Amino acid sequence: MFQVAVTAMVYRIETAAVQSLIEVLHQQNYSVLGPTLRDGSIVYDELHDASDLPMGWTEEQRPGYYRIRKRNDEALFGFTLGPHSWKKFLFPSISKLFSASRNAKGFNVLKDKAEPKGGTKPLAFFGVRPCELHAIEIQDKVFASGDYKDPQYNNVRAQVFIVAVNCSHPAETCFCSSMGTGPGVEGQYDLALTEIIDEKQHFFLIEAGSPKGEQVLENIQHHPAEGNEVSKGEDVVRTAASNMKRTLDTRGIKELLYENAEHPEWEKVGARCLSCANCTLVCPTCFCNTVEDSTDLGGTEATRTRKWDSCFTLDFSYIHGGNIRTSTKARYRQWMTHKLASWIDQFGTSGCVGCGRCITWCPVGIDITDETRVIRDNNGSA
Ligand code: SF4
Ligand code: SF4
Repeated sequence: MFQVAVTAMVYRIETAAVQSLIEVLHQQNYSVLGPTLRDGSIVYDELHDASDLPMGWTEEQRPGYYRIRKRNDEALFGFTLGPHSWKKFLFPSISKLFSASRNAKGFNVLKDKAEPKGGTKPLAFFGVRPCELHAIEIQDKVFASGDYKDPQYNNVRAQVFIVAVNCSHPAETCFCSSMGTGPGVEGQYDLALTEIIDEKQHFFLIEAGSPKGEQVLENIQHHPAEGNEVSKGEDVVRTAASNMKRTLDTRGIKELLYENAEHPEWEKVGARCLSCANCTLVCPTCFCNTVEDSTDLGGTEATRTRKWDSCFTLDFSYIHGGNIRTSTKARYRQWMTHKLASWIDQFGTSGCVGCGRCITWCPVGIDITDETRVIRDNNGSA
């Protein structure tokens, strides 16, 4: 939708060229955003240079558990995913839609443009994982296609430069293999990196996925990769796939969930769930939002603001004087059934890319793969 794919040729760049890549992106006026260490986790924020990357760090993830720890090498991408996803830049948690001020005849409506991180500069996403590339494509379907396009999302998205990274170390909570979204990069990117690191060597493979990517690549030192180097890159992805511990069986998932709306598991998971909404806030595809209007005390200025919301909040399903999902059981069932079933009816794809964030950041460790398994194993309609 946003890029033209080019035939990818694989090149080798040295580790020092990662710094050059960031510099070239800065020279081309991009605000470069990527993974960096902050407050005990790996988050996405502004990268001034390659030293901002979490070199030599990795993380441990399990249901309801996330800790960073040191690696015994200097890998730049030896981790997977933290709590942030790229939606925080494309679809910010709070954004002003417009404001209006009173005048002698009525109101002047002042349309405010989106103010992305880094001001009005175009954004370069540095270190986009394969599942996240799919998540961005899913949000493109929500915000940038069909009859109702979101102008704020599109203004930012149309200028994004994507540097994707093949995954080498899936977290214990990842299940992208079974969702068909990783651990190898596929889809729309400008450049794709593969980090090769062992006791003897440390370098990157790089491929251009668009004319913009080719143009950036021309400005950094690179040379065609040897056959054995390309094989090492393929091994990285193959090993990551074979190390992935979690799976989600997607066979007939839509029908399975539609037919099991009264399954006893919803009661059980509803009793554990805190309705905290963490799972929806960390999810890279969730897009529920609400709008709030506010005025100044003098009544001369009014502002309409859009904020992330969640199907786990009581207010979210308040319509016509009542709430249609009063129980936590109903809210969890709504979330999971939307992610894995009705999303397919709405947008033609699953709403889940298997990133595992909802498992890691659920304070009580509820696991969407376990919940699906329990329903499949005790399928009331079978
Ligand atoms: S539902 Fe969970 S695993 Fe799936 S994309 Fe959202 S956060 Fe990731
Ligand atoms: S499933 Fe977990 S993260 Fe999601 S609302 Fe319930 S307690 Fe919170």
